[in-house]
Amino acid sequence: MAAETIGRCKCPLCSSDRARLSLAKSKLSVITCNACNFQGFARSDRSDDKLRALLIAEPAAPPADDPPAPPAPIATAPQPAPATRAPMGWGVLGHA
Ligand SMILES: [Zn+2]
Repeated sequence: MAAETIGRCKCPLCSSDRARLSLAKSKLSVITCNACNFQGFARSDRSDDKLRALLIAEPAAPPADDPPAPPAPIATAPQPAPATRAPMGWGVLGHA
């Protein structure tokens, strides 16, 4: 049996909320972030508490298969009009 998952938490490195907090054999928590591949192991009750503090409170629900849509990037810049085909200056080299 793999590590027991406690829940989702916020990655302390990349701030992704898709990091996973699980319980190691030591009964201390382990954070695993799939966004930046960070893994962090609590080695004491203190760090265990700190890791658990990152937990995101959410109603118990079966893990959704489809990941939540990532926040849309700020893309409000107006699209430039399609470029009109500019005639290429073919006579630049000028042949004799
Ligand atoms: Zn991360």
